Amino acid sequence: MSIETLTSAVRNIPDFPIPGIQFKDITTLFQSASHLKELSDILYERYKDKGITKVVGIESRGFFMGPAVAIRLGAGFVPIRKPGKLPYTVIEETYTKEYGEDIIQIHEDALTKEDVVLLHDDLLATGGTMVAAYNLVKKLGVKKIHINFLIELEELNGMEHFPKDVEVNSVIKF
Ligand code: AMP
Repeated sequence: MSIETLTSAVRNIPDFPIPGIQFKDITTLFQSASHLKELSDILYERYKDKGITKVVGIESRGFFMGPAVAIRLGAGFVPIRKPGKLPYTVIEETYTKEYGEDIIQIHEDALTKEDVVLLHDDLLATGGTMVAAYNLVKKLGVKKIHINFLIELEELNGMEHFPKDVEVNSVIKF
């Protein structure tokens, strides 16, 4: 299956959730068994030799493919969540969004110094969310961090915000 086939399965919703946003709806991509299998094959092939021990998914759309890829890679899955959701002791990172500030959290014992992490989310726009997630995971002192998105909105240049020595990948580009 070609990347074009996957790309055309993403539904564009103009002006959602607010005017001016071209929202990329991935539910149309995931509802197809063959598209879902292809996505998991692509991510497996890309990361199978990287020694990934934990896939870390960002709430909430990073929870769709994150556990599926973790199972394929023989890795564990760890959630990054919004405040008030994780029940044990957390560490957190605050970041600036278009309107105000946001906070993300992870359990303080979710990762160890031995972990090789694949940080995963559905979409890269400005990069603010993933940079905060990267900084949060770094605080736990893991061995290495790889970053993956299903979709990248190239014109927003989100890739520029990551350190040069971090490998950042996306599957579908708009
Ligand atoms: P950003 O922090 O700007 O890179 O935004 C990324 C986060 O916002 C991801 O978790 C996406 O789910 C969501 N997001 C931002 N822009 C869009 C969009 N155009 N379509 C769908 N989701 C988006």
